[in-house]
Amino acid sequence: MAEMHGPPLSPTMIPDDLTIAQFMLDRPHPYRSTSRPVEAPWLVDDATGRKIGFEEIRARVFGLANTLSFDYGIRENDVVCLMSQNHVDYPLVIWALHRLGAIVTLTNPAFTSSELLYQLELTKVKAVVSDISSLSAVEEAATHYGIPQSRIILMDGNSSGRPKYATIDTLVQGGLANTACFEERRLAPGEGKTKIAIFCFSSGTTGKPKAVAIPHYAPIANVVQSALFWKSNGGSDSRFKPGDVSLGVLPFFHVYGLILGLFWFLFCGVTVVVVPKFNFIDMLKSISTYKVTHLMLVPPHAVLLCKSPETRQYDLFSVRLCLFGAAPLSAELTNQFVKLFPGAEVGQGYGMTETATLVLLYPLSQRVGTIGSAGHLLPGVSAKIVKADGSLAKVGEPGEFLIKTPAMALGYYQNEIATSETFINGYVHSGDEVAVDENGDFFVIDRLKELIKVRGFQVAPAELEGHLLDHTAVADACVVGVPDDYSGEVPFAFVSVDPDTAKLLKNDATGRESERLKEDIRKFVADTKVYYKRLEGGIEFIETVPKTPSGKLLRRVLRDQAKAIRARK
Ligand code: AMP
Repeated sequence: MAEMHGPPLSPTMIPDDLTIAQFMLDRPHPYRSTSRPVEAPWLVDDATGRKIGFEEIRARVFGLANTLSFDYGIRENDVVCLMSQNHVDYPLVIWALHRLGAIVTLTNPAFTSSELLYQLELTKVKAVVSDISSLSAVEEAATHYGIPQSRIILMDGNSSGRPKYATIDTLVQGGLANTACFEERRLAPGEGKTKIAIFCFSSGTTGKPKAVAIPHYAPIANVVQSALFWKSNGGSDSRFKPGDVSLGVLPFFHVYGLILGLFWFLFCGVTVVVVPKFNFIDMLKSISTYKVTHLMLVPPHAVLLCKSPETRQYDLFSVRLCLFGAAPLSAELTNQFVKLFPGAEVGQGYGMTETATLVLLYPLSQRVGTIGSAGHLLPGVSAKIVKADGSLAKVGEPGEFLIKTPAMALGYYQNEIATSETFINGYVHSGDEVAVDENGDFFVIDRLKELIKVRGFQVAPAELEGHLLDHTAVADACVVGVPDDYSGEVPFAFVSVDPDTAKLLKNDATGRESERLKEDIRKFVADTKVYYKRLEGGIEFIETVPKTPSGKLLRRVLRDQAKAIRARK
């Protein structure tokens, strides 16, 4: 099968001379929703019910940019890290930085200080915006990296018992009280394609997490591609209607939550209720309170909704649409979900940080996406499916998914080798094995790359293996993903130990030493890594970690072994 193409998309539909802030806040677009009711806010704070409309957002973005420029000296290409749970000011911080030509690095707020430090170093961060929950990790990492306390800004709340930090709100108010002391960064025609706007992290097909450099053009393109795909040419038939409300429950530090859950929905006129931290019962309450129409979720949410008796205790009839992504949604779960929400449109999307974001989506013509399918190609996307022997796959034949999209990232920041291994001749090599049927439905069959996905979050085996090698008893390690009903996958470690420990384990007939060491290794990971990287799949001691003659870990073999071990337990 030759190269496949999504519906045509005129490049003139995607402005290449606007920053994301200008695209979202300043400029009309043919596909932007113009039918948003006047009273409908853009954002609602789930915790307090506070509503924020368009004019207030624009004003706050101005105030914040003004202070960040004047008091903090944030300039062109300076990098500011945003480490926060979802918050109504989250997109405002990003847009304020974009008004100054600066770049934002997005970080998981649950990260430990060492995980944060890695990202600060990689993207050379000048200042950090943190929420209260992340403040301890931020303080520790900032001290190590050399960011002064005066360059830590709190998202909100107060840091009682600690140094007094400025908050976003005080910066906004200060900036609004002053006249403009910054010049809005404007882009030359075409510059949006190369000017970096956001760093998100992904381990790609191999190795440790890398900073994916996302230019302004990419999210803009993805919003237009997605909007176009779900809007018929006449414009009247669409998956969006005036007054629609979505629940911003996916984390905004991930492209799926940010570019789709926020930018795309806001562009299409949907009010986003911002949920700081996921809690299942609270989610049910919020759907019912705010009469949520649109849900963008990951498969573990479907598990909870389908399996929990509480689901039926809440009025969820307002839900008209559920989009799943970030990890595979099984056919079985899709069927259960469709029964649970008989009135809703349900389907999947597929995307990657490197393709920022969506490349597959279930089309407007399907009320329920083809069961098990990750969707059809979006407008403007081209793709190939390449078999292991390098030839192109025929219909139904599996192969690696190669993607060309206007929303593509520039590559991995300051990592030419990794970039050249994934971004090849204009294609992103996804590391996913897919097949396509005669209707254009894509099915994700397997993951060829190292990546493990736990509840939709990335876990890079190389990162955990590197960490395990720091344990005094560990001589070698290989981490693989094993299937898990709720999380999709969980990490499982094969570990070989140093000769002395090996002797100790061999002579221990009770198996107590082995259990003690496993517990110690488990804790060693849990103490320094975010919760979803924990070795919940298990630990298995092996004599030597099997490798190819060139020294590459035999991951596939070990993955199958791990699955078998898990099945026995
Ligand atoms: P991330 O960069 O964190 O968004 O992860 C991208 C990876 O998530 C893809 O390469 C896939 O392995 C996986 N993924 C995303 N969407 C889907 C989907 N609908 N079905 C299966 N896997 C998916």
